[in-house]
Amino acid sequence: MNAAQAPRRVAVIGGGIAGLASAYFLLKQGLRPVIFEAADRLGGLGAHFEHDGLTLDRFYHVILDSDSDLCALIAELGLAGDLVWRETGMGFHIGDNLYGFNGPIDVLRFRALPFVDRLRTGLGALYVTQIKRNGLDLDQVYARDWLLRVFGPRIFSRIWEPLLRAKFGDRFASVPAYWVWNTLTREKNGKQEIKGYLRGTYRALTDALYSAISTAGGEVRLNSPVDGIDAGADSATIESRGRGEHFAAAISTLPLPLLKRTARGRLAECVPHSDLEYQGVVNAIVVSRRQLERYYWTIVVDPRFAFQGVVETTHVLPPEWIGDRHLIYVMNYCDADSEIYARSDDLVRRQAVDGLSQLYPHFRAADVEAVYVFRAPHVEPVWKVGYLKSRPPARLADTRAYISTTAQAYPRVTAWNTSVALARETVTAVVTDLCGQTNQTLERAAAA
Ligand SMILES: Cc1cc2nc3c(=O)[nH]c(=O)nc-3n(C[C@H](O)[C@H](O)[C@H](O)COP(=O)(O)OP(=O)(O)OC[C@H]3O[C@@H](n4cnc5c(N)ncnc54)[C@H](O)[C@@H]3O)c2cc1C
Repeated sequence: MNAAQAPRRVAVIGGGIAGLASAYFLLKQGLRPVIFEAADRLGGLGAHFEHDGLTLDRFYHVILDSDSDLCALIAELGLAGDLVWRETGMGFHIGDNLYGFNGPIDVLRFRALPFVDRLRTGLGALYVTQIKRNGLDLDQVYARDWLLRVFGPRIFSRIWEPLLRAKFGDRFASVPAYWVWNTLTREKNGKQEIKGYLRGTYRALTDALYSAISTAGGEVRLNSPVDGIDAGADSATIESRGRGEHFAAAISTLPLPLLKRTARGRLAECVPHSDLEYQGVVNAIVVSRRQLERYYWTIVVDPRFAFQGVVETTHVLPPEWIGDRHLIYVMNYCDADSEIYARSDDLVRRQAVDGLSQLYPHFRAADVEAVYVFRAPHVEPVWKVGYLKSRPPARLADTRAYISTTAQAYPRVTAWNTSVALARETVTAVVTDLCGQTNQTLERAAAA
Protein backbone atom coordinates (compact mmCIF):
# COMPACT_ATOMS: atom_id res chain seq x y z
CA MET A 1 0.00 0.00 0.00
CA ASN A 2 1.51 3.40 -0.89
CA ALA A 3 1.00 6.53 1.20
CA ALA A 4 -1.88 7.75 -0.98
CA GLN A 5 -3.80 4.48 -0.34
CA ALA A 6 -3.12 4.32 3.41
CA PRO A 7 -6.25 4.93 5.50
CA ARG A 8 -6.39 8.46 6.77
CA ARG A 9 -5.66 8.80 10.47
CA VAL A 10 -8.06 10.51 12.85
CA ALA A 11 -7.00 11.39 16.41
CA VAL A 12 -9.55 10.62 19.12
CA ILE A 13 -8.96 12.40 22.42
CA GLY A 14 -10.28 10.46 25.41
CA GLY A 15 -10.83 6.72 25.86
CA GLY A 16 -14.21 6.79 27.58
CA ILE A 17 -17.28 5.43 25.80
CA ALA A 18 -17.46 8.46 23.46
CA GLY A 19 -13.86 7.95 22.31
CA LEU A 20 -14.12 4.16 22.00
CA ALA A 21 -17.40 4.30 20.07
CA SER A 22 -16.01 7.05 17.80
CA ALA A 23 -12.92 4.94 17.03
CA TYR A 24 -15.07 1.88 16.36
CA PHE A 25 -17.34 3.77 13.93
CA LEU A 26 -14.35 5.46 12.21
CA LEU A 27 -12.84 2.05 11.45
CA LYS A 28 -16.11 0.90 9.91
CA GLN A 29 -15.80 3.85 7.54
CA GLY A 30 -12.25 2.95 6.46
CA LEU A 31 -10.50 5.59 8.59
CA ARG A 32 -7.74 4.80 11.09
CA PRO A 33 -8.34 6.11 14.63
CA VAL A 34 -5.60 6.75 17.17
CA ILE A 35 -7.04 7.07 20.71
CA PHE A 36 -5.12 9.22 23.18
CA GLU A 37 -6.15 8.42 26.77
CA ALA A 38 -4.61 10.26 29.71
CA ALA A 39 -5.33 7.53 32.26
CA ASP A 40 -3.80 4.07 32.58
CA ARG A 41 -7.06 2.41 31.54
CA LEU A 42 -10.00 2.88 29.21
CA GLY A 43 -13.61 3.55 30.22
CA GLY A 44 -13.55 7.12 31.62
CA LEU A 45 -16.47 7.53 34.03
CA GLY A 46 -17.39 3.89 33.36
CA ALA A 47 -13.97 2.63 34.50
CA HIS A 48 -13.58 -0.17 37.01
CA PHE A 49 -11.57 -1.01 40.12
CA GLU A 50 -10.61 -4.29 41.77
CA HIS A 51 -11.93 -5.63 45.04
CA ASP A 52 -10.72 -9.01 46.23
CA GLY A 53 -10.10 -10.17 42.64
CA LEU A 54 -13.48 -8.86 41.43
CA THR A 55 -14.04 -6.15 38.84
CA LEU A 56 -16.47 -3.50 40.14
CA ASP A 57 -17.74 -0.16 38.82
CA ARG A 58 -16.21 3.00 40.30
CA PHE A 59 -19.57 4.72 39.73
CA TYR A 60 -22.92 2.88 39.64
CA HIS A 61 -23.93 2.12 36.04
CA VAL A 62 -26.91 0.33 34.56
CA ILE A 63 -28.43 0.05 31.10
CA LEU A 64 -32.06 0.93 30.39
CA ASP A 65 -34.25 -1.13 28.09
CA SER A 66 -34.73 2.06 26.04
CA ASP A 67 -30.94 2.33 25.41
CA SER A 68 -31.28 1.25 21.79
CA ASP A 69 -27.93 2.57 20.49
CA LEU A 70 -25.97 1.02 23.31
CA CYS A 71 -27.81 -2.30 23.14
CA ALA A 72 -27.23 -2.45 19.37
CA LEU A 73 -23.49 -1.94 19.92
CA ILE A 74 -23.43 -4.58 22.66
CA ALA A 75 -25.17 -7.03 20.32
CA GLU A 76 -22.81 -6.21 17.43
CA LEU A 77 -19.85 -7.02 19.68
CA GLY A 78 -21.39 -10.39 20.56
CA LEU A 79 -22.13 -9.53 24.21
CA ALA A 80 -25.95 -9.56 24.19
CA GLY A 81 -25.96 -12.94 25.95
CA ASP A 82 -24.10 -11.38 28.88
CA LEU A 83 -26.86 -8.89 29.68
CA VAL A 84 -29.29 -9.47 32.54
CA TRP A 85 -32.52 -7.48 32.96
CA ARG A 86 -34.39 -6.84 36.21
CA GLU A 87 -37.47 -4.85 37.23
CA THR A 88 -36.33 -2.24 39.71
CA GLY A 89 -37.96 0.17 42.12
CA MET A 90 -37.33 3.62 43.48
CA GLY A 91 -37.60 4.68 47.11
CA PHE A 92 -37.92 8.01 48.90
CA HIS A 93 -36.47 8.37 52.41
CA ILE A 94 -37.99 11.38 54.10
CA GLY A 95 -39.15 12.26 57.63
CA ASP A 96 -37.72 9.01 59.07
CA ASN A 97 -39.81 6.88 56.69
CA LEU A 98 -38.92 4.96 53.57
CA TYR A 99 -41.63 5.12 50.88
CA GLY A 100 -41.89 3.35 47.56
CA PHE A 101 -42.12 5.85 44.73
CA ASN A 102 -43.10 3.84 41.69
CA GLY A 103 -46.58 4.74 40.51
CA PRO A 104 -50.01 6.11 41.42
CA ILE A 105 -50.59 3.78 44.40
CA ASP A 106 -47.24 4.76 45.93
CA VAL A 107 -48.03 8.44 45.43
CA LEU A 108 -51.36 8.01 47.26
CA ARG A 109 -49.50 6.32 50.15
CA PHE A 110 -46.78 9.02 50.32
CA ARG A 111 -47.60 10.37 53.79
CA ALA A 112 -44.81 12.94 53.64
CA LEU A 113 -47.48 15.07 51.89
CA PRO A 114 -51.09 15.85 52.91
CA PHE A 115 -53.66 13.82 50.97
CA VAL A 116 -54.73 16.75 48.80
CA ASP A 117 -51.10 17.20 47.67
CA ARG A 118 -50.81 13.51 46.84
CA LEU A 119 -53.81 13.88 44.53
CA ARG A 120 -52.24 16.96 42.97
CA THR A 121 -48.95 15.09 42.51
CA GLY A 122 -50.78 12.35 40.58
CA LEU A 123 -52.69 14.85 38.43
CA GLY A 124 -49.53 16.86 37.77
CA ALA A 125 -47.63 13.72 36.74
CA LEU A 126 -50.50 12.80 34.41
CA TYR A 127 -50.34 16.24 32.82
CA VAL A 128 -46.55 16.12 32.37
CA THR A 129 -46.31 12.59 30.99
CA GLN A 130 -49.60 12.14 29.11
CA ILE A 131 -51.16 15.50 28.27
CA LYS A 132 -48.26 17.80 27.44
CA ARG A 133 -47.15 16.26 24.14
CA ASN A 134 -44.57 18.85 23.06
CA GLY A 135 -42.05 20.33 25.47
CA LEU A 136 -40.02 22.57 23.15
CA ASP A 137 -41.45 25.76 24.69
CA LEU A 138 -40.01 24.61 28.04
CA ASP A 139 -36.43 25.13 26.83
CA GLN A 140 -36.84 28.82 27.69
CA VAL A 141 -38.34 28.16 31.16
CA TYR A 142 -36.62 27.24 34.44
CA ALA A 143 -37.65 23.78 35.70
CA ARG A 144 -38.15 25.29 39.13
CA ASP A 145 -40.71 27.84 37.87
CA TRP A 146 -42.54 25.28 35.74
CA LEU A 147 -42.71 22.62 38.47
CA LEU A 148 -43.88 25.21 41.01
CA ARG A 149 -46.68 26.17 38.62
CA VAL A 150 -47.77 22.59 37.91
CA PHE A 151 -47.36 21.12 41.40
CA GLY A 152 -47.35 24.05 43.87
CA PRO A 153 -44.71 24.97 46.48
CA ARG A 154 -45.25 22.14 49.01
CA ILE A 155 -44.92 19.36 46.44
CA PHE A 156 -42.01 21.15 44.83
CA SER A 157 -40.02 21.40 48.05
CA ARG A 158 -40.82 17.85 49.23
CA ILE A 159 -40.41 15.96 45.95
CA TRP A 160 -38.99 17.95 43.06
CA GLU A 161 -36.28 19.90 44.78
CA PRO A 162 -34.70 16.74 46.28
CA LEU A 163 -34.97 15.00 42.90
CA LEU A 164 -33.29 17.90 41.08
CA ARG A 165 -30.67 18.24 43.79
CA ALA A 166 -29.88 14.54 43.46
CA LYS A 167 -28.71 15.24 39.91
CA PHE A 168 -27.59 18.87 39.85
CA GLY A 169 -26.74 19.59 43.50
CA ASP A 170 -26.89 23.27 44.46
CA ARG A 171 -27.27 24.31 40.82
CA PHE A 172 -30.70 22.72 40.46
CA ALA A 173 -32.42 26.10 40.09
CA SER A 174 -30.79 26.87 36.72
CA VAL A 175 -31.93 23.70 34.90
CA PRO A 176 -34.40 24.21 32.03
CA ALA A 177 -37.87 22.65 32.29
CA TYR A 178 -37.32 20.99 28.90
CA TRP A 179 -34.68 18.67 30.35
CA VAL A 180 -37.08 17.56 33.11
CA TRP A 181 -40.00 17.12 30.72
CA ASN A 182 -37.89 15.12 28.29
CA THR A 183 -36.52 12.87 31.05
CA LEU A 184 -39.99 12.20 32.46
CA THR A 185 -41.80 11.62 29.19
CA ARG A 186 -39.20 10.09 26.88
CA GLU A 187 -36.94 8.21 29.25
CA LYS A 188 -39.12 7.20 32.18
CA ASN A 189 -42.53 7.34 30.53
CA GLY A 190 -44.29 6.36 33.76
CA LYS A 191 -43.65 2.65 33.11
CA GLN A 192 -42.14 0.03 35.41
CA GLU A 193 -38.39 0.51 35.19
CA ILE A 194 -36.40 -2.34 33.70
CA LYS A 195 -32.67 -2.07 34.12
CA GLY A 196 -29.89 -4.13 32.62
CA TYR A 197 -26.36 -5.06 33.62
CA LEU A 198 -23.50 -6.49 31.62
CA ARG A 199 -21.59 -9.40 33.14
CA GLY A 200 -18.12 -8.14 33.98
CA THR A 201 -19.24 -4.44 34.29
CA TYR A 202 -18.80 -1.93 31.48
CA ARG A 203 -15.23 -3.20 31.42
CA ALA A 204 -16.51 -6.13 29.32
CA LEU A 205 -17.76 -3.65 26.71
CA THR A 206 -14.62 -1.51 26.95
CA ASP A 207 -12.44 -4.61 26.46
CA ALA A 208 -14.56 -5.78 23.50
CA LEU A 209 -14.29 -2.34 21.88
CA TYR A 210 -10.54 -2.24 22.51
CA SER A 211 -10.12 -5.63 20.92
CA ALA A 212 -12.34 -4.76 17.89
CA ILE A 213 -10.46 -1.47 17.41
CA SER A 214 -6.95 -2.95 17.63
CA THR A 215 -7.80 -5.96 15.47
CA ALA A 216 -9.11 -3.68 12.70
CA GLY A 217 -5.94 -1.54 12.70
CA GLY A 218 -6.80 1.26 15.15
CA GLU A 219 -4.35 2.35 17.79
CA VAL A 220 -4.93 2.93 21.52
CA ARG A 221 -2.38 4.88 23.54
CA LEU A 222 -2.83 4.81 27.31
CA ASN A 223 -1.03 7.21 29.68
CA SER A 224 -1.03 9.68 26.79
CA PRO A 225 -2.58 12.98 27.84
CA VAL A 226 -3.10 15.43 25.02
CA ASP A 227 -1.49 18.78 25.90
CA GLY A 228 -2.30 20.67 22.73
CA ILE A 229 -4.75 20.46 19.80
CA ASP A 230 -4.56 22.70 16.78
CA ALA A 231 -6.66 22.41 13.64
CA GLY A 232 -6.96 24.20 10.33
CA ALA A 233 -9.19 23.65 7.30
CA ASP A 234 -7.33 20.50 6.16
CA SER A 235 -5.74 18.81 9.14
CA ALA A 236 -5.32 18.65 12.91
CA THR A 237 -2.19 18.53 15.06
CA ILE A 238 -2.00 16.76 18.40
CA GLU A 239 0.69 17.28 21.04
CA SER A 240 1.15 14.47 23.51
CA ARG A 241 4.15 13.39 25.57
CA GLY A 242 6.32 16.08 24.05
CA ARG A 243 5.62 15.14 20.42
CA GLY A 244 3.44 16.78 17.77
CA GLU A 245 1.64 14.61 15.16
CA HIS A 246 -0.53 15.45 12.16
CA PHE A 247 -3.90 13.86 11.47
CA ALA A 248 -6.57 14.26 8.81
CA ALA A 249 -8.96 15.24 11.63
CA ALA A 250 -9.37 15.09 15.41
CA ILE A 251 -12.39 14.20 17.56
CA SER A 252 -12.32 15.54 21.11
CA THR A 253 -14.47 13.87 23.76
CA LEU A 254 -13.22 16.19 26.52
CA PRO A 255 -15.53 18.39 28.60
CA LEU A 256 -15.55 21.76 26.79
CA PRO A 257 -13.58 23.76 29.42
CA LEU A 258 -10.79 21.12 29.19
CA LEU A 259 -10.84 21.34 25.39
CA LYS A 260 -10.55 25.12 25.64
CA ARG A 261 -7.48 24.73 27.86
CA THR A 262 -5.93 22.32 25.35
CA ALA A 263 -6.84 24.13 22.12
CA ARG A 264 -4.10 26.13 20.40
CA GLY A 265 -4.02 28.76 17.66
CA ARG A 266 -7.24 29.46 15.79
CA LEU A 267 -8.97 26.47 17.36
CA ALA A 268 -8.86 28.16 20.76
CA GLU A 269 -11.28 30.77 19.40
CA CYS A 270 -13.73 28.14 18.08
CA VAL A 271 -14.43 26.17 21.27
CA PRO A 272 -18.12 26.70 22.13
CA HIS A 273 -19.42 27.07 25.69
CA SER A 274 -15.90 27.06 27.08
CA ASP A 275 -17.32 28.43 30.35
CA LEU A 276 -19.96 25.68 30.66
CA GLU A 277 -20.21 24.56 34.30
CA TYR A 278 -20.33 20.88 35.23
CA GLN A 279 -21.48 18.99 38.27
CA GLY A 280 -18.88 16.71 39.73
CA VAL A 281 -19.60 13.74 41.97
CA VAL A 282 -18.19 12.11 45.08
CA ASN A 283 -19.39 8.58 45.67
CA ALA A 284 -18.59 5.89 48.18
CA ILE A 285 -19.11 2.19 47.46
CA VAL A 286 -19.95 0.12 50.47
CA VAL A 287 -19.24 -3.57 49.81
CA SER A 288 -21.53 -5.44 52.19
CA ARG A 289 -22.38 -9.03 52.96
CA ARG A 290 -26.06 -8.12 53.45
CA GLN A 291 -28.76 -6.57 51.27
CA LEU A 292 -29.71 -3.04 52.33
CA GLU A 293 -33.27 -2.52 51.06
CA ARG A 294 -35.65 -3.40 48.24
CA TYR A 295 -35.01 -0.39 45.98
CA TYR A 296 -32.37 0.16 43.33
CA TRP A 297 -32.36 3.94 43.86
CA THR A 298 -33.50 5.87 46.93
CA ILE A 299 -33.63 9.65 47.28
CA VAL A 300 -32.73 10.66 50.82
CA VAL A 301 -33.84 13.86 52.53
CA ASP A 302 -32.52 13.61 56.06
CA PRO A 303 -30.11 15.88 57.95
CA ARG A 304 -28.34 12.82 59.43
CA PHE A 305 -27.33 11.60 55.99
CA ALA A 306 -24.45 13.40 54.25
CA PHE A 307 -25.45 12.20 50.73
CA GLN A 308 -28.28 12.86 48.28
CA GLY A 309 -29.18 9.26 47.68
CA VAL A 310 -28.41 5.55 47.77
CA VAL A 311 -28.07 3.19 44.82
CA GLU A 312 -27.93 -0.53 45.50
CA THR A 313 -26.74 -1.93 42.19
CA THR A 314 -27.05 -5.54 43.28
CA HIS A 315 -30.78 -5.30 42.55
CA VAL A 316 -29.70 -5.52 38.90
CA LEU A 317 -26.23 -7.05 39.07
CA PRO A 318 -26.81 -10.59 40.44
CA PRO A 319 -25.01 -10.79 43.82
CA GLU A 320 -23.90 -14.33 42.95
CA TRP A 321 -21.70 -12.85 40.18
CA ILE A 322 -19.66 -11.13 42.89
CA GLY A 323 -19.49 -13.77 45.59
CA ASP A 324 -22.88 -12.96 47.18
CA ARG A 325 -21.85 -9.45 48.04
CA HIS A 326 -24.11 -6.39 47.87
CA LEU A 327 -22.96 -3.05 46.47
CA ILE A 328 -24.33 0.12 48.06
CA TYR A 329 -23.33 3.39 46.42
CA VAL A 330 -23.98 6.70 48.21
CA MET A 331 -23.42 9.87 46.23
CA ASN A 332 -23.15 13.62 46.32
CA TYR A 333 -23.36 15.58 43.07
CA CYS A 334 -21.46 18.80 43.69
CA ASP A 335 -19.13 21.42 42.28
CA ALA A 336 -15.54 20.21 42.01
CA ASP A 337 -14.48 23.38 43.91
CA SER A 338 -16.86 22.75 46.79
CA GLU A 339 -16.13 21.69 50.36
CA ILE A 340 -18.07 18.44 49.77
CA TYR A 341 -15.80 17.49 46.87
CA ALA A 342 -12.69 18.23 48.95
CA ARG A 343 -13.69 16.04 51.94
CA SER A 344 -11.06 13.43 52.73
CA ASP A 345 -11.67 9.80 51.73
CA ASP A 346 -11.64 8.86 55.42
CA LEU A 347 -14.40 11.32 56.24
CA VAL A 348 -16.54 10.20 53.25
CA ARG A 349 -16.10 6.56 54.29
CA ARG A 350 -17.12 7.35 57.86
CA GLN A 351 -20.12 9.42 56.75
CA ALA A 352 -21.26 6.59 54.45
CA VAL A 353 -21.20 3.89 57.13
CA ASP A 354 -22.57 6.13 59.93
CA GLY A 355 -25.32 7.52 57.68
CA LEU A 356 -26.47 4.08 56.51
CA SER A 357 -26.45 2.81 60.13
CA GLN A 358 -28.73 5.67 61.20
CA LEU A 359 -31.19 5.34 58.33
CA TYR A 360 -31.43 1.59 57.91
CA PRO A 361 -31.99 -0.25 61.23
CA HIS A 362 -30.79 -3.61 59.89
CA PHE A 363 -27.63 -2.22 58.26
CA ARG A 364 -24.64 -3.42 60.30
CA ALA A 365 -21.14 -2.01 60.00
CA ALA A 366 -19.89 -5.52 60.84
CA ASP A 367 -21.22 -6.73 57.45
CA VAL A 368 -19.09 -4.19 55.57
CA GLU A 369 -16.07 -5.67 53.83
CA ALA A 370 -14.68 -2.43 52.43
CA VAL A 371 -15.62 1.14 51.49
CA TYR A 372 -14.08 2.80 48.42
CA VAL A 373 -14.33 6.47 47.47
CA PHE A 374 -14.17 7.87 43.92
CA ARG A 375 -14.60 11.40 42.59
CA ALA A 376 -15.07 12.90 39.13
CA PRO A 377 -15.06 16.65 38.40
CA HIS A 378 -17.01 16.69 35.09
CA VAL A 379 -20.09 14.48 35.17
CA GLU A 380 -23.10 16.44 33.98
CA PRO A 381 -23.12 19.85 32.28
CA VAL A 382 -25.28 22.33 34.17
CA TRP A 383 -27.73 23.09 31.37
CA LYS A 384 -28.92 26.66 30.92
CA VAL A 385 -32.29 27.84 29.66
CA GLY A 386 -32.28 28.22 25.88
CA TYR A 387 -29.49 25.62 25.51
CA LEU A 388 -31.28 23.87 22.65
CA LYS A 389 -30.45 26.74 20.29
CA SER A 390 -26.80 26.86 21.31
CA ARG A 391 -26.14 23.12 21.54
CA PRO A 392 -22.75 22.76 19.81
CA PRO A 393 -22.54 21.01 16.43
CA ALA A 394 -20.06 18.21 15.72
CA ARG A 395 -17.61 20.32 13.71
CA LEU A 396 -15.80 23.30 15.23
CA ALA A 397 -16.17 26.16 12.75
CA ASP A 398 -14.53 25.21 9.42
CA THR A 399 -11.66 23.29 11.00
CA ARG A 400 -10.89 19.57 11.01
CA ALA A 401 -11.60 19.45 14.76
CA TYR A 402 -14.82 17.76 15.88
CA ILE A 403 -16.44 17.09 19.24
CA SER A 404 -18.35 14.16 20.64
CA THR A 405 -18.98 15.14 24.22
CA THR A 406 -21.62 15.22 26.95
CA ALA A 407 -22.17 18.96 26.29
CA GLN A 408 -24.09 17.87 23.15
CA ALA A 409 -26.40 15.47 25.01
CA TYR A 410 -29.16 17.97 25.94
CA PRO A 411 -32.04 17.30 26.38
CA ARG A 412 -31.07 13.64 26.66
CA VAL A 413 -29.52 12.43 29.90
CA THR A 414 -25.76 11.96 29.86
CA ALA A 415 -25.33 8.20 29.60
CA TRP A 416 -23.44 5.59 27.59
CA ASN A 417 -26.39 5.26 25.23
CA THR A 418 -26.34 8.99 24.47
CA SER A 419 -22.54 8.93 24.02
CA VAL A 420 -22.80 6.10 21.48
CA ALA A 421 -25.48 8.02 19.53
CA LEU A 422 -23.38 11.20 19.64
CA ALA A 423 -20.25 9.33 18.50
CA ARG A 424 -22.13 8.02 15.49
CA GLU A 425 -23.37 11.52 14.60
CA THR A 426 -19.87 12.98 14.90
CA VAL A 427 -18.24 10.22 12.85
CA THR A 428 -20.89 10.76 10.16
CA ALA A 429 -19.86 14.45 10.03
CA VAL A 430 -16.12 13.58 9.90
CA VAL A 431 -16.55 11.02 7.14
CA THR A 432 -18.83 13.26 5.10
CA ASP A 433 -16.22 16.04 5.26
CA LEU A 434 -13.22 13.80 4.58
CA CYS A 435 -14.66 11.33 2.09
CA GLY A 436 -17.81 13.02 0.79
CA GLN A 437 -19.99 10.06 1.74
CA THR A 438 -20.55 7.55 4.51
CA ASN A 439 -21.31 3.92 4.71
CA GLN A 440 -25.09 3.68 4.38
CA THR A 441 -25.56 1.59 7.49
CA LEU A 442 -24.02 4.30 9.63
CA GLU A 443 -26.04 7.03 7.92
CA ARG A 444 -29.27 5.15 8.39
CA ALA A 445 -28.50 4.56 12.05
CA ALA A 446 -27.58 8.23 12.55
CA ALA A 447 -30.84 9.33 10.93
CA ALA A 448 -32.95 6.93 13.03
C1 LIG B 1 -22.13 8.45 39.46
C2 LIG B 1 -22.42 8.22 37.99
C3 LIG B 1 -23.44 7.38 37.63
C4 LIG B 1 -23.73 7.16 36.28
N1 LIG B 1 -24.70 6.27 35.95
C5 LIG B 1 -24.88 5.94 34.66
C6 LIG B 1 -25.74 4.87 34.30
O1 LIG B 1 -26.36 4.22 35.16
N2 LIG B 1 -25.89 4.58 32.97
C7 LIG B 1 -25.20 5.27 32.00
O2 LIG B 1 -25.33 4.93 30.82
N3 LIG B 1 -24.39 6.30 32.32
C8 LIG B 1 -24.21 6.66 33.61
N4 LIG B 1 -23.35 7.67 33.94
C9 LIG B 1 -22.88 8.60 32.90
C10 LIG B 1 -21.76 8.06 32.03
O3 LIG B 1 -20.75 7.48 32.81
C11 LIG B 1 -21.16 9.20 31.21
O4 LIG B 1 -22.17 9.96 30.58
C12 LIG B 1 -20.22 8.68 30.12
O5 LIG B 1 -19.30 7.77 30.68
C13 LIG B 1 -19.48 9.84 29.46
O6 LIG B 1 -18.53 9.29 28.56
P1 LIG B 1 -17.46 10.19 27.81
O7 LIG B 1 -16.62 9.28 27.01
O8 LIG B 1 -18.15 11.33 27.14
O9 LIG B 1 -16.61 10.90 28.98
P2 LIG B 1 -15.60 10.24 30.02
O10 LIG B 1 -16.08 8.92 30.46
O11 LIG B 1 -15.38 11.29 31.06
O12 LIG B 1 -14.27 10.03 29.18
C14 LIG B 1 -13.38 11.07 28.90
C15 LIG B 1 -11.99 10.47 28.87
O13 LIG B 1 -11.05 11.48 28.49
C16 LIG B 1 -9.86 11.29 29.22
N5 LIG B 1 -9.11 12.55 29.21
C17 LIG B 1 -9.33 13.67 29.94
N6 LIG B 1 -8.42 14.62 29.62
C18 LIG B 1 -7.62 14.08 28.66
C19 LIG B 1 -6.51 14.57 27.91
N7 LIG B 1 -6.03 15.82 28.06
N8 LIG B 1 -5.92 13.74 27.00
C20 LIG B 1 -6.39 12.47 26.81
N9 LIG B 1 -7.44 11.97 27.50
C21 LIG B 1 -8.05 12.76 28.40
C22 LIG B 1 -10.36 10.87 30.59
O14 LIG B 1 -9.32 10.20 31.30
C23 LIG B 1 -11.52 9.95 30.23
O15 LIG B 1 -11.11 8.60 30.10
C24 LIG B 1 -23.00 7.85 35.29
C25 LIG B 1 -21.95 8.70 35.66
C26 LIG B 1 -21.65 8.87 37.00
C27 LIG B 1 -20.48 9.73 37.38
